[in-house]
Amino acid sequence: MPRIPFFSKHPDTATDPVCKMDVDTSNPNGGTHEHEGETYYFCGAGCRVAFSKEPEKYLDPNFEGMPM
Ligand SMILES: [Zn+2]
Repeated sequence: MPRIPFFSKHPDTATDPVCKMDVDTSNPNGGTHEHEGETYYFCGAGCRVAFSKEPEKYLDPNFEGMPM
């Protein structure tokens, strides 16, 4: 499905730093993880665990996202 910029700017979503999916911040399927004062939201537990092990890897601006 093509992404419509207006809807992708919904304020109640955050981007999963591992797979770059939009995640509902009021009910994140994968829960949350705090890193250096920031809260990150995840689409699934696998992404959360991966992030908690190597947050620097996923926060690197050169990181393009992992296929699910
Ligand atoms: Zn994810």
